[in-house]
Amino acid sequence: MSTLDDLPLRDELVGQRPYGAPQLDVPIELNVNENTHGLPGEAIADIAQSLHDVIAGLNRYPDREFSRLREALAGYLGHGLVADQIWAANGSNEVLQQVLQAFGGPGRSLLSFTPTYSMYPLLAAGTQTSWVAVPRAENFTVTPEVAAEAVRAHRPDVVFLCRPNNPTGTGLSLEVIEAVYDATDGVVIVDEAYQEFAGPDAPTALSLLAGKPRLAVSRTMSKAFAFAGVRLGYLAADAAFVDALRLVRLPYHLSALTQAAALGALRHSEALLANVESIRAQRDLIIRRTRELGFAPYPSEANFVLIGGISDPQATFTALLERGIIVRDNGIPHTLRVTAGTPTETAAFLEAFAEVASPMAADS
Ligand SMILES: *Cc1c(COP(=O)(O)O)cnc(C)c1O
Repeated sequence: MSTLDDLPLRDELVGQRPYGAPQLDVPIELNVNENTHGLPGEAIADIAQSLHDVIAGLNRYPDREFSRLREALAGYLGHGLVADQIWAANGSNEVLQQVLQAFGGPGRSLLSFTPTYSMYPLLAAGTQTSWVAVPRAENFTVTPEVAAEAVRAHRPDVVFLCRPNNPTGTGLSLEVIEAVYDATDGVVIVDEAYQEFAGPDAPTALSLLAGKPRLAVSRTMSKAFAFAGVRLGYLAADAAFVDALRLVRLPYHLSALTQAAALGALRHSEALLANVESIRAQRDLIIRRTRELGFAPYPSEANFVLIGGISDPQATFTALLERGIIVRDNGIPHTLRVTAGTPTETAAFLEAFAEVASPMAADS
């Protein structure tokens, strides 16, 4: 069998690895920040009916502009948004890729503040956009001054701001977004994949969209909505920004089944989002309990916690896996990331973690 090395790969892909969250079949999966609660029964029945209703029409291409879905997403987001300001694709990863296809590319650059979502450099490589990683402060925060300074120094064409930030859970103030926007002529994408977990009254970059044609806010149904399997990410921006994405999307990229499923889910958004409060409580419990155990969990506005101060994260990861629990090693020294799941899953994780993990010595 030949290997990747034997193939005439594009230069920028040589030596790269595919997005690598391990997919293992273990009882407690707390490694990719899904909503681990199942879908509510009423939503399942209605979505099944919606899917059934489109099957007879699958001989035809779907609505290329997915107009009804855009309207429903605009209604869900509020903030006076209308359908022309909404875009969607198969996961927000595809939305972000389309942003780079339209605004990045050869000779252009994408800047973000690291550590951050591991897909950003991969999306950059895949679109031949150069990747500019600006390190965050030691506690993973970003200030308006530092952010604006970095943007002025590197003059990127695209900036991705992940808030709350994955994998650290760190929030980001709206002032940072405004400072970055004012410091660049490029486009600024605020990735709010975990926004719903920041709380019902948390500020959102959606409130900044008016009068900022180069700003976009991306969201997903993969996390709070408990709908990761459907692959539906979306974005809100000025209508012209959305038009730019229509230049690069593949025709009919959102299948009729996806559109029907997402519309069905949006009809039940309240039921699908009902567990968000409980997940937030589990997240806060993970922070409290691991701190009591002598670790250094970082503050989180998302549905996961980055636990710092672990003396040997790799050994801890393996020992948890042996107990049927998978978490995530994002390669940040002395940390592991764990998703807040159901109360039962959280209790099992905390019990196992207390057994197998040891905190770093105070002076190391
Ligand atoms: C999970 C995640 C996404 C969403 O990905 P989908 O493709 O919508 O499933 C986007 N951004 C960040 C930071 C994420 O963690």
